[in-house]
Amino acid sequence: DIINWEGFTADIEGIAFTDAPQTVKLKSRDYFWYSPILNKQLRKSWAHMVVTPKTEAEVITVAAACAKWRIPVTPRGGGTGNYGQAVPLVGGIILDMTQLTGISEIGNGFVRCETGILIADLDDSAHETGQELLMWPSTRSQATIGGFISGGSAGIGSVRHGVLRDDGNVRSLRIVTLEETPRIITLEGPEIQKAHHAYGTNGIITELELALQPAVDWHHAIALFDEYTDAVQFGEALCCEDYDIYLISVVDKGFAQFYDKLTDVFPQDKHAVFSMVGPKTIDAFTADAITHNGYVSLMMSDVEIEKANLPPAYECSYNHTTLQALKKDRNWTYLQVAYPQPYDPAADTIMLAEYGDDLLRHHEFARERGDYQLFAIPLLKFTTAEKLYEITKRYEELGCTVFDAHVYTIAEGGMKQVDTVQMAFKQDADPHGLMNPGKTSYAEAQEVLCRYAIPSS
Ligand code: FAD
Repeated sequence: DIINWEGFTADIEGIAFTDAPQTVKLKSRDYFWYSPILNKQLRKSWAHMVVTPKTEAEVITVAAACAKWRIPVTPRGGGTGNYGQAVPLVGGIILDMTQLTGISEIGNGFVRCETGILIADLDDSAHETGQELLMWPSTRSQATIGGFISGGSAGIGSVRHGVLRDDGNVRSLRIVTLEETPRIITLEGPEIQKAHHAYGTNGIITELELALQPAVDWHHAIALFDEYTDAVQFGEALCCEDYDIYLISVVDKGFAQFYDKLTDVFPQDKHAVFSMVGPKTIDAFTADAITHNGYVSLMMSDVEIEKANLPPAYECSYNHTTLQALKKDRNWTYLQVAYPQPYDPAADTIMLAEYGDDLLRHHEFARERGDYQLFAIPLLKFTTAEKLYEITKRYEELGCTVFDAHVYTIAEGGMKQVDTVQMAFKQDADPHGLMNPGKTSYAEAQEVLCRYAIPSS
């Protein structure tokens, strides 16, 4: 289809936009390159222009013009997603949300804000009131809160407060529809599931309300172990209601080679647990490490860790571990694996025996609907896609669930199915199918690619 770009730009007069190729290409990328498979598929996918509204009223003007001229829209926050969520598959515009940074209210137990604000800035503002966010990704300094709600799922804090979709964590979403006359829809309570983790496919989220908790002076901790199983069992012991724990991340000793600044506190012959611990739990943390045949090698407050020029514990957790490895060697990639509960080391023992040269163990603890869960983000030495999927299949044969991090659609990635509630909401909020086309399912991607006559190579 030929798009009338002149008509579109006339309709959005006064709103910032650019079609400078370098900016457009840069803003059409995210961290999909973590996956060699996605890198091949997405590195030449970019938008026609980037539009940067400053207010919700400007978002509405852009949404109306996109609906009128049938222009695909890919919302974008910080562009730190790992699955190409913010990469436009069929051109159109990137809707850069990063100028919508207002905080309208911080009350007792909640914050209401625009969605383009950086998570670190939002958390800093919450701290000024003695409160803090319940959870955030390790990319808090680059990622926006809207991008986290639309493209993320859990993070630092999830071992205490659960995942984003758990009741009460996200209290409301304010959404602009993609229609000639856009409407504003407010989703509250459990209704937020209609648009949470939808990769910007069913409405533009302009404002949201999140729950807050009283702030804790989290300390960055490392505990070391000779045996990996001891490290995981120490993590299990920390999953206790009475403890103040914000992060429990277990990594194989093989990760030590990636952390130059930590050689004194994370030597190459010890497995490590990176954690964030509240003051009232520091003594119990230290005692539990000893009970599990380990010891604490680092315990520092935020101020101390910054002064010592060491990375905070959260930058040694979640997908920051993969980043540290990739900085040293671009051949690493990763898998996302959920284990049957309780943890049985047998699956890891078998995987190590079969693929020991290709895999480095990494486990995270989080809560989901109140229950503690263990999942893994193992590092994988990439050779071929066939080998990656052979290893995936082996994990599945051992009773694990693998969430495919090497696809860009919601259905084939985490969810493994089409979310019918979200699809129904998409029909309402995006009746022309213009929002981030191709990200919903494999079938939809193929259909959209054909409709826009985009070559699939
Ligand atoms: P973007 O990448 O810009 O966008 C993500 C998705 O949201 C896209 O589909 C986009 O279209 C959509 N979107 C953005 N804004 C809006 C809006 N206002 N309305 C509608 N749709 C919108 N993720 C986790 O969940 N937990 C982690 O711990 C974590 N750790 C990470 C570590 C590293 C090193 C990296 C590279 C990534 C990590 N991620 C993690 C993934 C990612 O950083 C987070 O999900 C992050 O919150 C995404 O925010 P963003 O602003 O960068 O979103």
